[in-house]
Amino acid sequence: MRTLISQLEQFPRTCLIEQATPIQRLVALEQILGLEVRGIRLFAKRDDFMALGGGGNKLRKLEFLLGAALHDGIEHVITVGGLQSNHARLTAAACASLGLPCELVLSRAVAKEGEEYEHSGNVLLDELFGARVHISPDGISALHSAERRAAQLEKAGHKVKVIPTGGSTALGCLGYVRAAQEIAEQEQALALQFTRVFTANGSSGTHAGLSAGFAALGRGASLVKSYAVLADASTAQRQTLDLSHHVQTLLGLPADIEAHDIEVDGNYLGKGYGLPTPEMLNALRLMARHQGLLLDPVYSGKAFAGLIADLQSDRYVRGDNLLFVMTGGTPGLFAYRDALQDA
Ligand SMILES: *Cc1c(COP(=O)(O)O)cnc(C)c1O
Repeated sequence: MRTLISQLEQFPRTCLIEQATPIQRLVALEQILGLEVRGIRLFAKRDDFMALGGGGNKLRKLEFLLGAALHDGIEHVITVGGLQSNHARLTAAACASLGLPCELVLSRAVAKEGEEYEHSGNVLLDELFGARVHISPDGISALHSAERRAAQLEKAGHKVKVIPTGGSTALGCLGYVRAAQEIAEQEQALALQFTRVFTANGSSGTHAGLSAGFAALGRGASLVKSYAVLADASTAQRQTLDLSHHVQTLLGLPADIEAHDIEVDGNYLGKGYGLPTPEMLNALRLMARHQGLLLDPVYSGKAFAGLIADLQSDRYVRGDNLLFVMTGGTPGLFAYRDALQDA
């Protein structure tokens, strides 16, 4: 554990998360899902519970991404995402807290429209946090537009950093290597070890970072399982594996995670990114009504739907301690009012 901590300390990090996020046992859900009698315990890592900007998994990546940017004397940050991007919202909030001007290039990546989707939820907050929002024209990638805008600003003499989708570069993933370390410390305090850790897989950084982190801690990359919500399972699996190797290399470790150690389940994506499924709506309600906690419609709702289905199989057994990473995204609920009310 010591060596991983000192490896991480070589990288500049700006503190955006004040303390370790809580790990909470989901006792009511254990009963409802019949886990109690089977001797399986279910926990949530509350990465939705952070003080800045509404919280969420992107803040962990931004600690390293913006830490490096400040270290390099960056004066202007640009990032990209869909209209309801949590990453864009948290980049705007983090930049506000650091006094860095922030611009967002958002694209209509989801086949969804309506007043709420276009103007409420995350988009509303982006502007509240003072970010300048551009909508990428259809047919032009947001990253391409962002780079064009960066070139303009650079020509005017500014030092600009463009952060790619979801902050999922190897450097950003260090946030989830650090989270693996944090979870291992919390295990000691709880006097237990998690036997599997679950997360949503969008731009793959959360899975890749956790897997690289647990591998470095001697627990194995396969401790983590994810549910794809953006790409199909095989694309997401390949992307996660590649990214995990880049993270290992960045840490000065051999890139030795094997393909079979990265499990990505694509069965809960439904018709595509950001499109609601009945299983997601059911998972969201179950968590809300029995635990009083909020999942989001795009990521954690679909991932938790997958976990619920897995828990109905005999994959997990007596003595298992399962940890679901709640990754945030609450503002997205307001953009999906129609889906939530129809159901
Ligand atoms: C981005 C996001 C994820 C997925 O994380 P990746 O590192 O992109 O795979 C999960 N949940 C929420 C709420 C997110 O915003």
